[in-house]
Amino acid sequence: MRSNANLVDQFGREKRKLRISVTDRCNFKCQYCMPEHPEWLAKKDILSFEALYIFCELMVEQGIESIRITGGEPLMRQGVVHFINDLSRLRAKGLKRISMTTNAHYLAKYAEGLKRAGLDDLNISLDSLDAKQFQQLTKKFLQPILQGITAAQAVGLKIKINTVLMRGINDDQIIPLVKWGMAQKVSVRFIEYMPLDGDALWQKDWVVSEQDILSTLEKEFQITAIAQDHEPAKQFVIQNLNDAVKENFSKQTYKIGIISTISNPFCQQCDRLRLTATGELFTCLFSDQGLSFKDKLEQYQKNKDDALRNEIIDTIKTVVWYKEAGYVSKQRAPLRKITMHAIGG
Ligand code: SAM
Ligand code: SF4
Repeated sequence: MRSNANLVDQFGREKRKLRISVTDRCNFKCQYCMPEHPEWLAKKDILSFEALYIFCELMVEQGIESIRITGGEPLMRQGVVHFINDLSRLRAKGLKRISMTTNAHYLAKYAEGLKRAGLDDLNISLDSLDAKQFQQLTKKFLQPILQGITAAQAVGLKIKINTVLMRGINDDQIIPLVKWGMAQKVSVRFIEYMPLDGDALWQKDWVVSEQDILSTLEKEFQITAIAQDHEPAKQFVIQNLNDAVKENFSKQTYKIGIISTISNPFCQQCDRLRLTATGELFTCLFSDQGLSFKDKLEQYQKNKDDALRNEIIDTIKTVVWYKEAGYVSKQRAPLRKITMHAIGG
């Protein structure tokens, strides 16, 4: 029987987190993400911030507690800081957290405004500390990203680092990034490369698995797994081997995360939903299709008709109910054109 909880799927997974992509455009060309020749969405097809706010409000009323703004590169969409300011009003309706995932290229400029607008935290993509390797991977410079991280820390924004590892490309960065993260007091999360790259070049051989990452870290660190708690990343407390034998291990609090979607998917715990910049709702990163709410939201924006509002909510609930098991049962790339830079990671 269908559960009475507002946003729950057929496997009993309640939805508490919404990721919204505000643009498919990006100034980076990460090898694992962007196609060689991107075809950007037309501006007319992008959901306005007004319609997006309506969607977020409905979702918060249905139990969403966390909203993450992503892209493309979210800091490339004009008005995003103002939008976060608006979203903050939804805290009165139960929204607990507003976050952003960014490549941090423009972060130094926006950090203070983001904090003032009510952003709680940032996930920053950083795949290499080697300037040359970083440039090969992203086609951009490393320095602005490090400056952005410093600026965000200075205004008190919480930060996590996201690192996608590719075998033979940046897997030599595992230990340097962890040492850097310890020194900067920033947690690093390693992400297994997923079959969601723009040109569909993904191969399993290129995935640096959770086990590979742990084996590399074990050479220099003592590692203890800790509870996962609805996060896609498995958490580990780590400490330098030399310190570990000398000191009381429980005092150490530096944590890293590993998102092992390919080798060990966390689908059974998934509490997320995703909206693309065109207003298509996807219940899973690997769904073959989404459902567009753009027309209905724009219609509702104009006439604020209660019957239409109820229709939108009912449709959302039905879409959520039919959320599939996920990558855990699929084990393949989705059969759709929309890849990571459009769905938002
Ligand atoms: N531009 C922003 C950024 O890079 O942080 C936000 C959008 S990006 C699509 C969101 C996240 O998806 C990033 O952490 C990125 O590293 C990750 N990502 C992109 N392509 C991926 C892939 N093929 N496999 C795993 N993670 C991927
Ligand atoms: Fe742009 Fe983010 Fe994709 Fe890199 S991962 S190309 S920064 S959208």
